[in-house]
Amino acid sequence: MKTATHSIKNTLSLLLSMPVILASSYTFAQTHKPKLVLQITVDQLRGNMPTAYLDKMGKGGFKYLLNEGVVYKDAHHNHANTETIVGHATLATGALPAVHGMIGNVWYDDKLQRLVYNVEDSKYPLLSANADVNQKTEIDPTQRTAKSSGRSPSNIQVSTFSDELMIASNGKAKVFGVSVKDRGAISMAGHTGKAFWFSKKSGEFVTSEYYYDKYPEWVVSWNEAKPVKKYHNQTWKLTQPKTNYVFGKQDDQVWETKFPGFGNTFPHQYGEMSNPYFNTFLTLSPAGDELTLDFVKAVVNNEQLGQDDITDYLSVSFSSTDYVGHIFGPSSLEAEDNMLRLDRTIANLLKFIDKKVGLDNTLIVLSADHGAAEVPAYLSTLGMKTEPVTPKTWDKSPSMQALKKQFGFDETLIKSYFHPYVYLDRDLIARRKLSLEQVQKAVALEVAKFDGVALAVTSKDIEQGNTPQDYLHTLVANNHSKNRSGDIYIVLEAHRFVADMEGLTVAATHGSPWGYDTFVPMIFAGFNLDDDIVYDRVSTTDIAVTLSAILGIKAPSGAQGKVLKKVLDD
Ligand SMILES: [Zn+2]
Repeated sequence: MKTATHSIKNTLSLLLSMPVILASSYTFAQTHKPKLVLQITVDQLRGNMPTAYLDKMGKGGFKYLLNEGVVYKDAHHNHANTETIVGHATLATGALPAVHGMIGNVWYDDKLQRLVYNVEDSKYPLLSANADVNQKTEIDPTQRTAKSSGRSPSNIQVSTFSDELMIASNGKAKVFGVSVKDRGAISMAGHTGKAFWFSKKSGEFVTSEYYYDKYPEWVVSWNEAKPVKKYHNQTWKLTQPKTNYVFGKQDDQVWETKFPGFGNTFPHQYGEMSNPYFNTFLTLSPAGDELTLDFVKAVVNNEQLGQDDITDYLSVSFSSTDYVGHIFGPSSLEAEDNMLRLDRTIANLLKFIDKKVGLDNTLIVLSADHGAAEVPAYLSTLGMKTEPVTPKTWDKSPSMQALKKQFGFDETLIKSYFHPYVYLDRDLIARRKLSLEQVQKAVALEVAKFDGVALAVTSKDIEQGNTPQDYLHTLVANNHSKNRSGDIYIVLEAHRFVADMEGLTVAATHGSPWGYDTFVPMIFAGFNLDDDIVYDRVSTTDIAVTLSAILGIKAPSGAQGKVLKKVLDD
């Protein structure tokens, strides 16, 4: 009896105390907010890459994130076109490309009747003279598509996490996005933040009139100090003895892109500042990330990020891993050394943030815009034979000639193939009074038979819901935008790609829906989170939703991800 009374009493007191406990933990969750959200995105960082060379890495970078953070071991993008802007916009918005609209680095604009670059916007010219894309020396073919120097986030059709932070704070949050690539900075800063990126033409960090009427004084000073000059006549050297590297004996692999001056063996020469390719060489090496970090430190210092109770947001997108991967391949001595350098750059960034804001006050999330494909020739050396695909030959193939004959003409029907779309000559189809839908279908049937093509899906079929619900078709549909998609979405067979990037033969490229391209790291750290490893498959759309939940603000307008409870439980 006595025991029972005692236990009832206990239960009662427990019940009575419960609302109090709940209320206080709720209040704690609502008031305990990070001073800074630091979103690190590494361009072309496949999910397994942070751990591949971990034994050679020091403390404070990837080791800190992997040991102290909540680590998702099976995170993927759920869209087919795994390119830079598509991945960045997904990380920023928690939405799929079909919703946020950034379906490719380039798409065809029906109104303008031309291919457009994702963040180009003639309404907002660059704030710097002589810092636009140099058509002669620019190696990124998507950048060369832009017809104006203007840049803005206007094409992103929904809000970003950073926008929501700004809205919730009545404009008091400080929001910055920095990257070597314009699209890596603009996407993450959203519609309400400030973005800065590196001009390969001027060697400066620049912005557009969308963000500022004139540069803040500190940006002028940073650029006037010419930080790129420390690389004048310097080289990119190996950080460790050659024997320490997995690829130590393979510095000169036949598929590495040969850049006159830069070479394809260590030490890589940056050459003289007056060389028109000098700044490009910096971006093809860890120097691009080091410069980005240097500018980021200036942002934090001068804009006083993370110094008060209003949560600020800083996005840092590191681009060197992508350039190095394209030029030398992800399995190369260059890529291996770049990872060790990136680790030091991240360690340096975290040490700096710890000093300025405190890592306990900083919620860190690291992920990537896409993974990385191996160089086909590298796979061939291991016994996986693969050949490049040649879409340029498609229109003239016998089967296409026969098809055109059936339609009653012999002019060029496949106007272009710009990854991932086949673009048909719609004027010709209209002139011949043919049904676009029928021509799309007929061409897709033929293209699907060509060597290297896994899937050819017409835009009409996606819009009408005529595609199967399998994995690949779902990822293609997730990438579809009625106004921006081309005529036929092409998925190439795994490990195959078009080696020619508008004249530049690259060693490797991404952009497929295959696992190596969708697989990215996803790590939440700092802010006193308890370390954890999660093996469940998660989506990159979950990041913006989870950040919003931690901050207690509404998720971005098109977000479709789920809250990752493990991060909130900690
Ligand atoms: Zn890339």
